[in-house]
Amino acid sequence: MHSTVYDIAIVGGGLAGLCLAIQAGKAGHNVVLFEKNNYPYHKVCGEYISNESWQFLETLGVPLQDYALPVINTLKVSSPSGQMLQAPLAQGGFGISRYKLDAALCALARNAGVQVLEGTKVENVTFVNNQFFIAVANQQYSAKVVCGTFGKRSNLDVKWQRQQKHTQSYIGVKYHVNYPVPTNEIQLHNFKDGYCGISAIEEGKACLCYLTTAAQLQKAGSIAKMEAQFLQKNKYLKHILTNATFLYTKPLTISQVSFAPKKAVENNVLCIGDAAGLISPLCGNGMSMAMHGSKIAFNAVQQFLQGTINRQQMEATYTHQWQKAFATRLFYGRLIQRFFGGTITTNIFLGLLKKLPKLINWLVAKTHGKPF
Ligand SMILES: Cc1cc2nc3c(=O)[nH]c(=O)nc-3n(C[C@H](O)[C@H](O)[C@H](O)COP(=O)(O)OP(=O)(O)OC[C@H]3O[C@@H](n4cnc5c(N)ncnc54)[C@H](O)[C@@H]3O)c2cc1C
Repeated sequence: MHSTVYDIAIVGGGLAGLCLAIQAGKAGHNVVLFEKNNYPYHKVCGEYISNESWQFLETLGVPLQDYALPVINTLKVSSPSGQMLQAPLAQGGFGISRYKLDAALCALARNAGVQVLEGTKVENVTFVNNQFFIAVANQQYSAKVVCGTFGKRSNLDVKWQRQQKHTQSYIGVKYHVNYPVPTNEIQLHNFKDGYCGISAIEEGKACLCYLTTAAQLQKAGSIAKMEAQFLQKNKYLKHILTNATFLYTKPLTISQVSFAPKKAVENNVLCIGDAAGLISPLCGNGMSMAMHGSKIAFNAVQQFLQGTINRQQMEATYTHQWQKAFATRLFYGRLIQRFFGGTITTNIFLGLLKKLPKLINWLVAKTHGKPF
């Protein structure tokens, strides 16, 4: 048992966890962050970040301007049968790999005095007598506040019985590729029961990432067979998959992705980012929600640690602010997700959007937020 009682213990060093750690470290709190992987590492993610987060990341100290990143201002969507829609993205975004971004944030967290424990998986978190105990291998840490930033699916979800048994389970697959996708475009190509995004990231590379059902993979038997049988039915995806140079030796995958609602506070732990609720990747906005969520959580935790609100008020404030910021976006994200996947519904939906370009802007606005 470590003798230090940390002000804040953060479980998971993705965007939500690292951004919270930097804010709390800069404010002078004693912070420990646990991340089961070692930086830098690749993560399944489309790597398109909406511009609402630009300013926030720069405030944390990420020198985005110096990275000369692709500026993305155009959306292209194709249906499985090859119908194509193009629309300007009013707010737009930029492309950066998680490999680069998460490692940069980790360095900033360390500079802010945060104790970042890499390669350290949290096995359990318990709350006894107003104090948290964090179990890691055969060691135990304690803290006044614990924030759960462990992403879409973690061992803690299982331990806390947060798994959603009766909802559709999705898988995500990602590659970095060399392929001449225009640097200002994010392309979203639909196929039966899934969709695949491609957009530019740093150093002339592109991120190719798709989501489909676990059942589809099971039916096909392997990723290669699934891509041949289903993805390549879309002529745009066929061109990408047969002409791109793949930069990983094998695809990066995740499973058991669920979009079912979750609670923002679980076992007195403030859950942030995907741990509080995952928005459909179609919206290209989960990373901004994770970062924005860290700011909302930090404000509530800061007040608690300064003694201006009690624990119950901190949990209630955070839950309320989280709902206010994200509940509508998640609702529209789920709604949009339903229209994609089926060949007929996607064709009808794209046909409708083509005739009503204002509807696209409206939907994009409903799933995105303002700079925070
Ligand atoms: C296929 C797909 C494509 C996507 N594309 C986009 C996109 O283009 N744009 C966008 O904005 N969003 C996209 N998203 C969503 C985005 O990836 C997430 O919303 C975002 O990563 C959430 O950040 P987070 O910090 O909550 O979780 P994560 O970034 O997943 O971080 C969670 C961290 O917790 C760690 N962890 C888990 N359990 C433990 C434990 N017990 N102990 C220690 N560490 C632990 C994990 O290793 C991980 O590093 C996509 C999602 C999917 C599935």
